Amino acid sequence: MNNLSTEFAPRPTLDYPFGKRWSPEHGDPFEVIDGVYWLRVPLPIALDHINLWILRDGDGWTLVDSGYDAQICKDVWEQVFDGFLTPSSVNKIIITHFHPDHIGLASWLALRCQCPILISEGEYRHYESIIKRDADAFASEASAFVREMGYAPDMVDKFVMFMASGDKPKESRVQEEMCQFIKEHDDIDIDGRTWTVISGNGHSPEHSCLYNEELDTMIAGDQSIARISSNVSVFPSNRHQDPLGDWLTSCEKLRDRLSPDTLMLPAHQEPFRGNTARMQQMIDDHHAQLNRLRLAIGAPISTVEARAVLFDRELNVIETLLATGETLAHLNYLVHRKEISMEYDYQGVARYSAC
Ligand SMILES: [Zn+2]
Repeated sequence: MNNLSTEFAPRPTLDYPFGKRWSPEHGDPFEVIDGVYWLRVPLPIALDHINLWILRDGDGWTLVDSGYDAQICKDVWEQVFDGFLTPSSVNKIIITHFHPDHIGLASWLALRCQCPILISEGEYRHYESIIKRDADAFASEASAFVREMGYAPDMVDKFVMFMASGDKPKESRVQEEMCQFIKEHDDIDIDGRTWTVISGNGHSPEHSCLYNEELDTMIAGDQSIARISSNVSVFPSNRHQDPLGDWLTSCEKLRDRLSPDTLMLPAHQEPFRGNTARMQQMIDDHHAQLNRLRLAIGAPISTVEARAVLFDRELNVIETLLATGETLAHLNYLVHRKEISMEYDYQGVARYSAC
């Protein structure tokens, strides 16, 4: 899930070794570097594609991410199984994080290929909390959460409906017994090469990136994308947490850990070099947003009012929800640092004011 953040800092000049806005045909894996193939898959959502990665692994293959649980994504895999590789030659599937465009087809693929799914425990536990939650209890929790922001009842209903839409039929869910948990610093052997897990937090609980030193290449998932800033949001599940603080720490880590020349293989748009500058731009953009909030918070303001400060343009319902979640992430960042505090007014709306 990615989005709409306003960008302020000048865009860095990135190098696109395969061309800016170029991608291989759907279902036709393209070798970007020795033994690493780029599979472009369409998505039935506003963000209309995802990049999956197929890595040669001895006599077999390792897959990274799975695509959305939709027929157009299954069709692409069938095309791949028809010529490029056979399901029985897949050794394992690595999932970067729990968002539906990444994990959606994981159980379908794992059953088809009879192989394990490697995922961090933090991502799996969060995914499990979504698939196992009680629908009615979640609806009332989500509706209280949206009312606190200061939205009118019609918007509350729309938001709750969208937030509940992640529920999936039981047979297509990833079960824990299919999984092997991975964590930061783990070394995963793929074709005699070591791919080290580098975790990122804030966009999702414990996102796994994979870095190979010899190739100076990183499979980045949603942690570093050339021209999209990943959504960093507060939802009912992390209502009082500080995902923006986590995200900024992760951006600093990726900025400092990788070289400017590292080949980045992101889940969306195109492979690029120039991650150091890209991470710095993301950090600067979020700090610019925080400064706008600091200037706007004099008299107590609600989340809805703060959202209008950060995103002062027309948004559809889904964009409004993402923008509101992202606004809350910025508010929570300031609350956690005791720059502002929150109190409920007589109507139960959360209002933020300077400390
Ligand atoms: Zn994501």
